[in-house]
Amino acid sequence: MGRVFIVGAGPGDPELITLKGLRLIETADAIVYDRLVPQALLSRARPQALLVYVGKKPGGQGPSQQEINEMLYNLALKYDVVVRLHGGDPLVFGRGFEECEYLASRGIRCEFVPGVTSGLAAPAKHYIPPVARGTASSVALVTGREDPSKGRRQVDFKRLAAAVDTIVIYMGAASAREIAAELMEGGLPPDTPVAVIESAFFEDERFRATTLGGLDAVRNPAVIVVGRTVERGLRLREALCR
Ligand code: SAH
Repeated sequence: MGRVFIVGAGPGDPELITLKGLRLIETADAIVYDRLVPQALLSRARPQALLVYVGKKPGGQGPSQQEINEMLYNLALKYDVVVRLHGGDPLVFGRGFEECEYLASRGIRCEFVPGVTSGLAAPAKHYIPPVARGTASSVALVTGREDPSKGRRQVDFKRLAAAVDTIVIYMGAASAREIAAELMEGGLPPDTPVAVIESAFFEDERFRATTLGGLDAVRNPAVIVVGRTVERGLRLREALCR
């Protein structure tokens, strides 16, 4: 019986994977991968390795989580080394944990290999720190998605507004303006600085700086950073990129 490694591929730059993650890709018998995994990493797989794409376009079709779980199980019965490759970190808004729970319940050994999460890497590329001494000492990584069963957001942005210095929003493109409104209702001023990084590390990457009050349409996938730390990052960015 094989082992399943649940690996973070990093945020899109193929160099931002761990050595352990890369070594596993290079030795895997089978690799099951997502939409945001860089192609350059897949090209490091052995020629005989089986590569299975399980991603979906936003709102489009793709295998269900149950189907992915069963696929990983069946591959582990057949092969020695199975790699489940997630964009960013497998445990930050990936389904890596659920996959490992499922595999463990069926007697398959699995292991996590962390990755560089997009919510930290995309801002860092543009000199924006999640925390910075004197400006921000707490950060929350949150999802902008709604809970389909409840029809409201999974995160209480009004309460969050008062509780942390920096808010990093994943999966917030479709509801960016509603989230901004909730944060302002929660007490954040409309001139609170915001950075939006769309398709970080990919060819169509777009960075912009705005404010909560000025936030307009955001293209998926995007990381949205809210907080005073954005301002400090922008000053450094300007000094360096002039
Ligand atoms: N496990 C991943 C997150 C998966 S959820 C990680 O740790 O990064 C998918 C969300 O991640 C997207 O909706 C977007 O908010 C963010 N994301 C992932 N890759 C991105 C990229 N290259 N640029 C901008 N946002 C990205």
